[in-house]
Amino acid sequence: MVVSGYQEKEGSSLTPFYNLITTKTTHLKQSVHPWSKTHNNKLASRVYNTERILNAATALHLISTRTTIPVPRLLSSDTNPDGNAWLETERTPNGLWLDVVRDRCRMPAGKQHVAEGSECDECDRIARANARRFVTDEVLPQLNGLRSDVTGLGGRVIPPLWVTFHEEEPGWVPKRVEEGVEGYVFCHGNLHAHSILVHAETLHVLQIVDWEEAGYFPKEFQVWSVTREEYEALYEDEEHRKRLTALMV
Ligand SMILES: [Zn+2]
Repeated sequence: MVVSGYQEKEGSSLTPFYNLITTKTTHLKQSVHPWSKTHNNKLASRVYNTERILNAATALHLISTRTTIPVPRLLSSDTNPDGNAWLETERTPNGLWLDVVRDRCRMPAGKQHVAEGSECDECDRIARANARRFVTDEVLPQLNGLRSDVTGLGGRVIPPLWVTFHEEEPGWVPKRVEEGVEGYVFCHGNLHAHSILVHAETLHVLQIVDWEEAGYFPKEFQVWSVTREEYEALYEDEEHRKRLTALMV
């Protein structure tokens, strides 16, 4: 069963990096594949997938203790003897991926923008405007306030997928900031319409999820979008990617 709205249904779905199991009260991400295909049809190993899961746990802990950015509550995370890792977080009622708001009108009966069963552009517009404002006013200032002299997070360096699009098995090492240069800023790494949850009725932002690629990076990595199209265009901008990759070595 495919989980189409992050919180709408219970069930499991397989992504290139992990298996996501949604229950009434929790989300469980497990790195289950010995090898898996990434966006560019290359293979990512279980080591990389495991690192991504553990990186998300470290990021959730940091964000929940040092900012007011709403994130899923971390329940547990660790590695199994077989090398796979898991990340268990609390499920928030009434949360929807920004990307699925348009599927139908979210207004109460009598106030609906469109007929039952139709897609609703107005709800989509309201939700994206709310998300844009929230990220600009609440999320980015706090992320930019978190600084480090070393790239990555806790010894791991998991750059955004759109930066490493053409890389073989990624294997980045922490880089120390040059003297006299401003420290690295904390970046979500995958901030777009599929990592922003809005309330299914108010359409206000509830949580920022999916912190697998979070960490400290040069400020040029602080990129985000509330539309999937804009975000996916990043994968195609080879010059931009090369420029950012050069900043990490
Ligand atoms: Zn509507």
